Amino acid sequence: MKKYSVGIDLGGTRVKLGLVAEGNIISQKIIPANSANGLHINLPTLQKEINNLLFSNNINESNLNGIALAFPGLVDPVSNKILSTNQKYDDAISVDMHAWVKQNWHTNFYMDNDARMAAVGEWKFGEGKDTDNLVVMTIGTGIGTSAIIEGKLLRGKHFQAGVLGGHMSVKYNGRTCNCGNIGCAEAYGSSWSLKERLMGSKELEESVLAKNDVHDFANLFFAAKNNDILAFRLRQEYLDVWSATIINLIHAYDPEIVVLGGGVMNSGEDIIPYISSKVKAHAWTPWGNVKIKASKLLNDAGILGVVYCLENKMQD
Ligand SMILES: [Zn+2]
Repeated sequence: MKKYSVGIDLGGTRVKLGLVAEGNIISQKIIPANSANGLHINLPTLQKEINNLLFSNNINESNLNGIALAFPGLVDPVSNKILSTNQKYDDAISVDMHAWVKQNWHTNFYMDNDARMAAVGEWKFGEGKDTDNLVVMTIGTGIGTSAIIEGKLLRGKHFQAGVLGGHMSVKYNGRTCNCGNIGCAEAYGSSWSLKERLMGSKELEESVLAKNDVHDFANLFFAAKNNDILAFRLRQEYLDVWSATIINLIHAYDPEIVVLGGGVMNSGEDIIPYISSKVKAHAWTPWGNVKIKASKLLNDAGILGVVYCLENKMQD
């Protein structure tokens, strides 16, 4: 096998590109994403960044094994098709990424859902290394989930098994999510939901959060630590939504470990013990306790996972 592969994790706000050799990211680049305007418009920038990564590391087509893409939507990795999107890169169904890679680099290609690839990354290189039964949940702009059961990456007939955990309902009479379902975990537990929830709060005027331009979890957790009443209440609600979602995932997929990723894990010490105690109290697991762990790979999990799938021909 040739030594080098390029992995791309196409996020809603950032695109991460990594040059990978033998399970290690040896060079990487993070650029802002332009997901609201579609995928097609991003291709020239992506092409330039891939070429820069290859050129600056003296890689040419003769030692490039392939290019792999982790995409935030439903993906068929067998026929290399993007099947469905939700508010990110919404023209992607009409873009032939395999043809784009073949045309520009004459190399192998693999593409799959981003949370599913983060799960493979954790399974092969991260916190899930010691088990064949794990669930990964990534908390960010959205909530991504994926499951590996008895050493098998869960995909399902329509390639959507495991990855829609963020769209399991945690409130049957709640608000309508951008996916069309009612009361989704994502509508109550993702960072896109934060701004909406702040604006609807009657305590907002007295809160330091009213002064922030950016409404994200870092600001929320910081304000909660400084005893801001609104931030404290909302942090509690988010912790409870995440706990409920994780218990749903445990009941669905029977994991031994749940790995949590996303930027919010920078506040992992405020999150992991709380969720662990909720899971211990409420999950139905007579065999023992599911371990709840913060990802140590963080941003690298998706890239390492998708390159692993490329190199091990996981679409076959
Ligand atoms: Zn939803």
